[in-house]
Amino acid sequence: MNKFADLHIHTYYSDGTFSPEEVVQAAVRVGLACISITDHDTVEGIGPTRQAATDVNVEVISGIELSSEINGKDVHVLGYCINEKHPALVDTIQKAQTSRVERIHTMIEKLKQMGVDNIQFEEVSQLTQSKSLGRPHLATILKQKGWVADISEAFTKYLGEGCPAYVPKYKLTPYEAIALIRKIGGVAVLAHPMITNRDELIHRLVESGLQGLEVYYPNCPAVTCEYYAKLAKKYNLIMTGGSDAHGKAKDNTFIGKTRIPYEYVEQLKKLSRVT
Ligand code: AMP
Ligand code: ZN
Ligand code: FE
Ligand code: FE
Repeated sequence: MNKFADLHIHTYYSDGTFSPEEVVQAAVRVGLACISITDHDTVEGIGPTRQAATDVNVEVISGIELSSEINGKDVHVLGYCINEKHPALVDTIQKAQTSRVERIHTMIEKLKQMGVDNIQFEEVSQLTQSKSLGRPHLATILKQKGWVADISEAFTKYLGEGCPAYVPKYKLTPYEAIALIRKIGGVAVLAHPMITNRDELIHRLVESGLQGLEVYYPNCPAVTCEYYAKLAKKYNLIMTGGSDAHGKAKDNTFIGKTRIPYEYVEQLKKLSRVT
């Protein structure tokens, strides 16, 4: 029987809403053989997900989605088959999370100055199990308190880049993110290039050690996936894919919506230096 994998899943250790147990239940329900937890700037969800998957036939491979930025543009870099305990990763995660916490405090302060004056830090922080706090958490509280009709409005009105309550966070450059992933034995993959829309960077990213492209992504037209598959071939990059499921925090996708043949996972594992 053909085996499939979903290599891009968030949990409530970053800005997803599912617990590791719920992720594993969903993976079983949709018949996935393999999943990867790729939370933003944290690896805390991986161990509990492995634990939750011990009695079911779902393989969990380690992953992370590192935030990076170049010329004011967010670039997400996925790291797979990483050494989660490597001191260089622990140090970077620590810096990123400290910055994320400070940033939420600053954004709440900015909102207050705009008259949005009833948001407490603790209400936002209790939405995640880790310190990987993000704008989606703050957006959720803005919605709950009736300041916006939905998450999307929270971004366009307050939290999006260039909006009045926007605050940048500590970020690596994509080149540093790739170097870090390689240093910790992992495989560096450019996340959702069709969303990031910075294809002109790919050449230099490859020169910096990029090894893969996330070619398969939910709601991506087939012709666009084909374009990125060709680009992957041109640069000798492996292809990956995943749903980018965030549980209830993102309603246009779900676990298993995008699934890739298991042979792509085998290619990924061959490139990893983590045994
Ligand atoms: P942060 O890491 O705190 O900067 O938040 C980035 C996350 O916010 C992304 O990974 C998306 O999941 C989400 N996001 C960014 N822009 C939007 C938007 N316009 N509408 C809804 N969610 C968004
Ligand atoms: Zn997210
Ligand atoms: Fe992303
Ligand atoms: Fe993601």
